[in-house]
Amino acid sequence: MEENHKLIIIGSGPAGLTAALYAARAMLAPIVFEGAQPGGQLTITTEVENFPGFPEGIQGPDLMARMKDQAARFDADVRSETIEDVQLVGRPFWVTTDKGAYSAEALIVATGASAQLLGIESESRLMGRGVSACATCDGFFYRDKEVLIVGGGDSALEEAIFLTRFASKVTVVHRRDELRASKYMQERARANEKIAFRWNAVIEEILGDETPVVTGARLRDTRTGEVEDVGCDGVFMAIGHTPNTTLFQGQLELDEKGYIVTREGAATSVEGVFAAGDVVDHTYRQAVTAAGSGCMAAIDAERYLEAV
Ligand code: NAP
Repeated sequence: MEENHKLIIIGSGPAGLTAALYAARAMLAPIVFEGAQPGGQLTITTEVENFPGFPEGIQGPDLMARMKDQAARFDADVRSETIEDVQLVGRPFWVTTDKGAYSAEALIVATGASAQLLGIESESRLMGRGVSACATCDGFFYRDKEVLIVGGGDSALEEAIFLTRFASKVTVVHRRDELRASKYMQERARANEKIAFRWNAVIEEILGDETPVVTGARLRDTRTGEVEDVGCDGVFMAIGHTPNTTLFQGQLELDEKGYIVTREGAATSVEGVFAAGDVVDHTYRQAVTAAGSGCMAAIDAERYLEAV
């Protein structure tokens, strides 16, 4: 099967769906490929309290369902196909999925970012058996259990607070003695009596018996080098994200961390290819900034298509 379109949008988080809404209202009949995580990272969060227009807060999955409905209302065509390859050597651009090949005159990349991991052997061996990178997905399994959460940013504290709904004790393991998280999140976490902090510590190994399930972690003090085993039932990673740009390596200019480089709004190094959201932004990384940049990408794509 082969289809030709004006605009293809890859990704369905706030950036992709906002781009879809704007492009659909500009009569560009965009196709949106949802990607591996339909709705993006907000579908694995709980309450979103800082998206304007929702004074009472809104659940992440509900916000994304609303964005999808809004884009669909203007006939954006959202498809759940897995992208296997993209070809960006001149127009039209080609996108190959598990179901077919699609060409487009313009492309918006909004593939987001994925949770970063420590990269140690025990972490991958015990992933899903006590190791997790998503507290909102897996927290439920830790009722009355003790867990560690690694990281010192907003994600780590947000997830620590969430985990206290289930766990009896949550220890935040941070490699420094100062948190990166916002003051507000710090206050909330410090006020929570189920949350403890383990400063200047990194996980050297996650311990698991032969079942295998997590039974503890080997921590190394970053100042003294001292090593200590602590018991726990789960270890959650919250140490940041890496951009989902594997498909674009060698085709779009990426920065040293793998994020797509944009200039003049949402333009990438290839004319006609635009990028938006967390795949571009490692600074702000908010739902509202992703949505804003999705809007910019759609307007840029519309102007580009008018001119060619
Ligand atoms: P982040 O701010 O980059 O924090 C990552 C944390 O992980 C840092 O404390 C870092 O330590 C630590 N870390 C990184 N690599 C590590 C490693 N290999 N071993 C041990 N620790 C490691 O990431 P984030 O918390 O995911 O937040 C990302 C962005 O999203 C931020 O802008 C944040 O404000 C935003 N966010 C906002 C909310 C909210 O507003 N409610 C919620 C979640 C996220 P160092 O501090 O030493 O570098």
